[in-house]
Amino acid sequence: MPIRSVSALQLAGKKVLVRCDFNVPLEGTTITDPARIDASLDTIRYILKERGIAVLCSHLGRPKERAPELSLKPVAAYLTHALGQKVGLTPDCIGDVTGRMVAALKPGDAILLENLRYHKEEEANDRDFSHELARAKDAYVNDAFGTAHRAHASTAGVTRFIAERAAGFLMMRELEALRAVTENPTHPSVAILGGAKVSDKIGVIRNLLNKVDTILIGGAMAYTFLKAANVPIGLSRVEEDKLELARELVGEAEKHHVQFRLPIDHIVAASPDASTTARIATEIPDDMMGLDIGPATVEDFIARLATAKTVIWNGPLGFFEHPEFAHGTMRVGEALANLTGAKTIIGGGDTAAAVGHQRWSSRFTHISTGGGATLEYLEGKELPGVKALEV
Ligand code: AMP
Repeated sequence: MPIRSVSALQLAGKKVLVRCDFNVPLEGTTITDPARIDASLDTIRYILKERGIAVLCSHLGRPKERAPELSLKPVAAYLTHALGQKVGLTPDCIGDVTGRMVAALKPGDAILLENLRYHKEEEANDRDFSHELARAKDAYVNDAFGTAHRAHASTAGVTRFIAERAAGFLMMRELEALRAVTENPTHPSVAILGGAKVSDKIGVIRNLLNKVDTILIGGAMAYTFLKAANVPIGLSRVEEDKLELARELVGEAEKHHVQFRLPIDHIVAASPDASTTARIATEIPDDMMGLDIGPATVEDFIARLATAKTVIWNGPLGFFEHPEFAHGTMRVGEALANLTGAKTIIGGGDTAAAVGHQRWSSRFTHISTGGGATLEYLEGKELPGVKALEV
């Protein structure tokens, strides 16, 4: 069913509840990475330009009750600066004082409601809490792709009480990018999958098997696949209980004529902390572990990306937090960013953390703001926060 963009709503004079994802990293009261706030500025600016009244809301962290260290106060200050107009903070997301502050706003004004998760009813998708949040709002806009895989009061329940609803521009961009991968992708299409565990990616691999032409596997999860193929992996991370499943997935890939590429060489070391012992190896010695894909694998992956027209990437290809083991992720990232004529989509979470701040990262088609939501979408699941926007 279709969902509308915020640009389809009549906003003038309306009080618009805008669910954003302002769940930013904080050090004390300093925002260390404002990317998620920046990503929703388009939507907020549009609502204000159209003379709507923007009542912004978000969660921050996972408190179940009031927790001053997780106040959205730094976000209100950041928004005030970024929008060039006062964005006040209400003392709570519901209640009489908040209601009076919202009622006093004029068209073109914006306000931020205090952390939704000060109330456990938010995550419980409580009906009465949803009703309270919806009180006196004329329209609802959801721009919080990062929490779209959760059916919470502010992402799902609230739409029972507000008829006028739409997706913000960020949400629209995120969904459009993912649709480019899962619905009629331009071929050849490639999925690059990495990260720690096979178990986190089973659903994604299964769902992508009949959608993409090639799957490139890196990261720690590659070692479970290699062990399943009787390749020696030394001390590398492995999920012993997933070996059978790994064989099954490789078999399914063959059945679907999907090229399933595993690393052919590695950067190995005695342990993640023993980077001085790091070296390239095509065969992993018994007393070493694979911590990154090696240069021949990098070349192999880049060669397979060269003709790709659609690429989705989820999960780092090595223990990238350590510079010695970040080369594989960075080199593949840069090659991907330099592809011309291809849609290149970076799943959120660790992948975005690894490559999102490189000088070449602006050349990707899209870097998702939602790791968990991206994974669930790629598994073929319906996202409750998107479903709730259907009209
Ligand atoms: P995920 O949360 O599944 O995306 O996994 C990301 C984590 O996996 C990151 O912390 C990476 O450093 C880690 N990782 C990736 N490759 C390896 C590897 N070869 N050995 C150990 N950890 C790895």
